[in-house]
Amino acid sequence: MDRTLKDLSKQQQDFFNTVYIQLNTYQKAAELLNVDNKTISQLNISLEHIWRPITKVRDKWKLKEIGGNFWDFYNWYLTAEKKCHYCGITEEDLNELHKIGINNKRITRGRTLEIDRKIADEKYSKIENLTYSCYWCNNAKTDTFSEEEFKIIGKAIGIVWNQRLGK
Ligand SMILES: [Zn+2]
Repeated sequence: MDRTLKDLSKQQQDFFNTVYIQLNTYQKAAELLNVDNKTISQLNISLEHIWRPITKVRDKWKLKEIGGNFWDFYNWYLTAEKKCHYCGITEEDLNELHKIGINNKRITRGRTLEIDRKIADEKYSKIENLTYSCYWCNNAKTDTFSEEEFKIIGKAIGIVWNQRLGK
């Protein structure tokens, strides 16, 4: 569980997990927690400052079907270094590249880092297998290259990015 939830009451924690992590409806949560709709509504309002930022991370967790314990992923998400594991580019620099014009076509993909599995065969739920990758490294690495092999290739990609960025 995240430390921001630790100071909450048991009822607030249960509500949070039931609605925001397990994605039950308010109606279902009222049944499961054995409370009325008014209490559900109050719980919801009292926790808004917590669920707003956390649900953004939860949506990524759901979208990627990462599975496992949400809080393990959440802690990884908060602490992982936000640059491509292979070429080293940051999101700031990716935005810079897009401003310069990354190729002749107007591409929109690749402004943000993607979540990659270092070992492609292993599940996303294995947190130590997760890392950030830029779109280009992720796209080129596929299932063909191992993490260590692609680090060699990524180094060269990083040199090219830096040339383009005038670094
Ligand atoms: Zn990269």
